[in-house]
Amino acid sequence: MLNRQRFPKGGLEIIKQLNASDHQAYLVGGCIRDLRLGLKVNEWDIATSAHPEEVTKLFKKVVPTGIDYGTVTILLKDGQYEVTTFRSDENYLDGRHPDNVVFTTDIHQDLSRRDFTINALAYDPLTKELVDDFEGQKDLKRKIIRAIGNPVERFSEDGLRSIRACRFAAKLNFKIEPNTLAAITKTINVTKKIARERVHDELVKILATDKPSIAFELMRKSGLLTLILPELEKGCGIKQPPNFHKFDVYWHNLKACDAAPKGNLIVRLAALLHDISKPACKKDYTFYGHDQAGAKSAETILKRLKFSNADIKKTTNLIAQHMFNYTSGWTDAAVRRFIRRIGGVENIADLFAVRLADTKAMKSKIGTKYLQELKKRINKIVRAENALHVRDLKVDGQDVMLTLKISAGPKVGEVLNALLEKVLDDPQLNERKTLLELIKSYA
Ligand code: ATP
Ligand code: MG
Repeated sequence: MLNRQRFPKGGLEIIKQLNASDHQAYLVGGCIRDLRLGLKVNEWDIATSAHPEEVTKLFKKVVPTGIDYGTVTILLKDGQYEVTTFRSDENYLDGRHPDNVVFTTDIHQDLSRRDFTINALAYDPLTKELVDDFEGQKDLKRKIIRAIGNPVERFSEDGLRSIRACRFAAKLNFKIEPNTLAAITKTINVTKKIARERVHDELVKILATDKPSIAFELMRKSGLLTLILPELEKGCGIKQPPNFHKFDVYWHNLKACDAAPKGNLIVRLAALLHDISKPACKKDYTFYGHDQAGAKSAETILKRLKFSNADIKKTTNLIAQHMFNYTSGWTDAAVRRFIRRIGGVENIADLFAVRLADTKAMKSKIGTKYLQELKKRINKIVRAENALHVRDLKVDGQDVMLTLKISAGPKVGEVLNALLEKVLDDPQLNERKTLLELIKSYA
């Protein structure tokens, strides 16, 4: 049924070797699902009846990556493979982890502990046996995410599964089966207990799908969004000026996120949150200050969701700067100030990507020609190597201190910034002799 050419050599080798030692072994979970759908496979997971110690003995390079749950990682020339012993998880008392991981030699038991029917397919590439106990293939054809067994029970065992359901719906462009969707709402209190780090990881994966809006809208409908990102929901029904906009603030944020490049987490995050403070800043049809307020709000949100300081800094900067208003009338000095304000040329590509995504989520007649023009002018200025930062000035703090006979302190920075302002207006001033003369005027 599945083309053997598509299986990685290393994975086949591992299965052969496990078989040779009288153990069962299957390719399992996401890889078989994605293979069935003709999608690129991210990782090849193997399930086996062999215990972790036995697997460890059979291969040269083995890392105990999740030994408590029976998982080891085998490192081979062509990649790494997670090998997990068949498990039957018992008693999820805390709604997060099984209290008792019990190994089993029965693949059927192992598949029954998994989350969704489409994730519970196992395939033996040597015998070509496909194990599909829960109509997973049927659901793949019907494009449905369905919990295995009783969805309320399954989500009560592990509250992360409901977020995973929304993620897979976005990744695969599937619907969540109605009972499974209803169960998300019924088990919100279990999801509440999930560690924020795990929620963070799911959000990152959602933001890497083709259409994150599918996941966020399912989260809104089921109540998950109130738990995880209530600020986003506040945009629902907030109308915008009809000459530019066709969506309310909520859908505009979501559509901008979809339109942002999927491989760029920072731009996706910034697009999702770029108008997050519009509801709070709304006055009639204006949203004065929503960029700065949005950056602040995004900082709080992203901290809460365990994003790194570096991610937060980049994202909030993009949000704070997303309202720049370029016209051909800008002087070169204005372009230089713009580059400085957004934190340097290195942020331009991301900021333009956010603006493009923002525009794509508006009325289709909104043009973006001005972005091309601004980009050209920026490139010209950068090529001319004009001073853009204090560090690009032909004098430094030492020069200021020596010339003015002052010691280190805030005054030094003030003078350097004042010099920079002058150089931004007239780049020709960036000559050492000229600047040393200018410093004297700040005595
Ligand atoms: P992805 O393409 O995102 O890697 P995946 O299906 O491989 O998708 P993983 O999180 O890597 O997802 O998990 C591998 C497999 O383990 C899943 O296909 C599923 O069978 C099982 N699984 C993972 N997390 C859970 C969970 N929280 N509850 C039950 N089963 C799970
Ligand atoms: Mg996986």
